[in-house]
Amino acid sequence: MSIQNEYLNGLMERIIQRDPNEPEFHQAAREVLTSLAPVCNARPELIREGVMDCLVEPERTIKFRVPWEDDQGNIHVNRGYRIQFNSAIGPYKGGLRFHPSVNESIIKFLGFEQTFKNSLTGLPIGSGKGGSDFDPKGKSDSEVMRFCQSFMNELFKYIGPDTDVPAGDIGVGAREIGYLFGQYKRLCNEFTGVLTGKGLSYGGSLARKEATGYGLCYFTDNMLSDAGRSFDGATVIISGSGNVATYACEKATQLGGKVVAMSDSNGYVYDKEGIDLALIKQIKEVERKRIKEYVQRKPSAQYFEGCSKIWTIPCHIALPCATQNELNGEAAKALIANGCFAVAEGANMPCTPEAVEAIQEAGVLFAPAKAANAGGVAVSALEMSQNSMRFSWSFEEVDSRLKTIMTDLYHNASNAATQYGMPGNLVAGANISGFLKIADSMLAYGLV
Ligand code: NDP
Repeated sequence: MSIQNEYLNGLMERIIQRDPNEPEFHQAAREVLTSLAPVCNARPELIREGVMDCLVEPERTIKFRVPWEDDQGNIHVNRGYRIQFNSAIGPYKGGLRFHPSVNESIIKFLGFEQTFKNSLTGLPIGSGKGGSDFDPKGKSDSEVMRFCQSFMNELFKYIGPDTDVPAGDIGVGAREIGYLFGQYKRLCNEFTGVLTGKGLSYGGSLARKEATGYGLCYFTDNMLSDAGRSFDGATVIISGSGNVATYACEKATQLGGKVVAMSDSNGYVYDKEGIDLALIKQIKEVERKRIKEYVQRKPSAQYFEGCSKIWTIPCHIALPCATQNELNGEAAKALIANGCFAVAEGANMPCTPEAVEAIQEAGVLFAPAKAANAGGVAVSALEMSQNSMRFSWSFEEVDSRLKTIMTDLYHNASNAATQYGMPGNLVAGANISGFLKIADSMLAYGLV
């Protein structure tokens, strides 16, 4: 898809020339610049005043070494990152990812996407993302603790409750947030809301754990409802079995859907009777084992090695909730051929550009990640509010605010798409709707 604005086309070329080894960032930037072309055509001052050039360049990139000692006394050195992307509308906010695949391109694309996502929530949060190529899988709790403490020994210099508030992402759950927060508190001698996703006993918010998965389903429900459809009676496939996937499964089931498949990075389970979520939680959250254990305890289900074929199972709604580029053009074609009527992204950028194109061309409803999975960061922002007030809301209060945020977000994205002549195109609508508030703030500040 070409970018319908000459300046933005040139900008895209310069992005590639400047950092040729960042394919994930190029993919994310191209999608956004394509959507924003009609806005820039209507408002040339955005280009003239440097907003577009600044938008694609992080305000700050921090890269550091993270030495840690394993249980046998061996020393390892990993690499840590924090990219503070855009603070036009609030303190930097975005998760930390611990996974061996982490590199600067991945953190940069995630930070860039976060810019629009955070703005879309309607809450005052800027964007950032961070992480490390450390792999928590197979490590003891003590090893994870020493790693997290070493990571924070450097990161604490750059974050703060009014500056930058990290959260979890792949490989960073409640355990890691606890170690990170404990070390920050020790180093700074202050108890502040510097991280979100905290445990309930030390400042966490009820419903944060559920927020991304629930929010994804609230968003999808709105999209389905506008098209005269619903979760009720629909067959659903969810990739992943981590935080987002687990709570997407819970809410999709509550809304009347039947989830028949889930996965981890090794393979997927197909349970035609409907996934037993309590069993998934026991295996993944409690025992931290592989999803193939599921069939040992529920022999009527089937396990398949490898992840990509999960999309060949017939379904009405597909919710990719594992990782970037996990659903390609071929997978999209299989979904379409099997009668799938909606794809909603729970993970960040799980569909390749070829997949998105095929889905949209086939008239299948498509909810892009930066809108559909914004529930997690929205409740993180609500956690920040509760921390500032030194007060906690009930689960029902947070969940109801989340539902309102996701409903408003859907309508804002949908209306922006219509306003700019692309009705139903939520990719464009989300990019435009998220962008406008940031652009106006950046213009107000002048060139900074
Ligand atoms: P988790 O670490 O809790 O779970 C990730 C899941 O995806 C696991 O089942 C994991 O399998 C699987 N997975 C990870 N990497 C791969 C891979 N390369 N190939 C196949 N499967 C893989 O992470 P989250 O659920 O928190 O995050 C999932 C996605 O959602 C990410 O894209 C994240 O950026 C996004 N997201 C998360 C938010 C949150 O609030 N947590 C908010 C918004 C977006 P295994 O167990 O084998 O590692």
